[in-house]
Amino acid sequence: LFAGEAGFVWAASKADNLPPMKGVEIAFAGRSNVGKSSLVNALTGRKTLARTSHTPGRTQELNFFDLGEALRIVDMPGYGYAAAAKEKVASWTRLIKAYLRGRANLARVYVLIDSRHGLKPNDLEVLDLLDVSAVSYQVVLTKGDEPKAADLDRRIAETQAALAKRPAAFPIIRPTSSRTGEGVSELRSDIARLLAE
Ligand code: GDP
Repeated sequence: LFAGEAGFVWAASKADNLPPMKGVEIAFAGRSNVGKSSLVNALTGRKTLARTSHTPGRTQELNFFDLGEALRIVDMPGYGYAAAAKEKVASWTRLIKAYLRGRANLARVYVLIDSRHGLKPNDLEVLDLLDVSAVSYQVVLTKGDEPKAADLDRRIAETQAALAKRPAAFPIIRPTSSRTGEGVSELRSDIARLLAE
């Protein structure tokens, strides 16, 4: 599945330049610096697919790329810069809402959460948006190599509790580390199972 040729690439910064739907889409979202590019690269085994510029104020884009014929990965722009202007937050929300609306081939959004920090208010806003849009999502904890094992376990339990009453949340939380590779093959299996549905 993840060995397929990387083909189609598309960047959309506005609602009116989203690519036509093809295959199954899986999207990745998270606060800036959560480790999204690293995880997407670890998942796909490609270093160049997710190149996130860390320059604040850079154009926010949805980046689409195909892995073989069946799977399209969508890299969502990072959110939650402390210094982000209101207008920037509003344009992020507009773009994401436009994308989520009627995206019938979007199988799941992976919401990445830093295992050291847990769910922050702007993460909860994103989960609200996904719940309201009835788009299935799964929380992935990143940088799982950082906390002590007991702290990571507590973080998983706490996150699970926070998701329990959210209608669109997938109940299994994946702890991962792009650095050690922990959880990456499990996440691949989750995605493969989604495609088989
Ligand atoms: P993005 O902004 O969400 O795309 O995040 P990046 O993938 O660029 O990573 C942001 C920072 O976190 C970089 O300094 C990475 O080296 C670091 N990072 C990413 N993944 C991991 C991880 O699994 N473990 C640790 N300890 N650091 C990581």
